[in-house]
Amino acid sequence: MQEIISLVSTCDCKETYWTRKNKKKNPDKLEYKKYCPRCRKHVLFREKK
Ligand SMILES: [Zn+2]
Repeated sequence: MQEIISLVSTCDCKETYWTRKNKKKNPDKLEYKKYCPRCRKHVLFREKK
């Protein structure tokens, strides 16, 4: 079962990135390093509840 989740950047822009994950396989909060187009650099995106 894949669920769509949103990842929000930890920088001030609060960029949102949508992805899917399997909550059974990955019950923990996701953290991805993604490119923020406004900061023009890679920042940490955290799963939003
Ligand atoms: Zn940013």
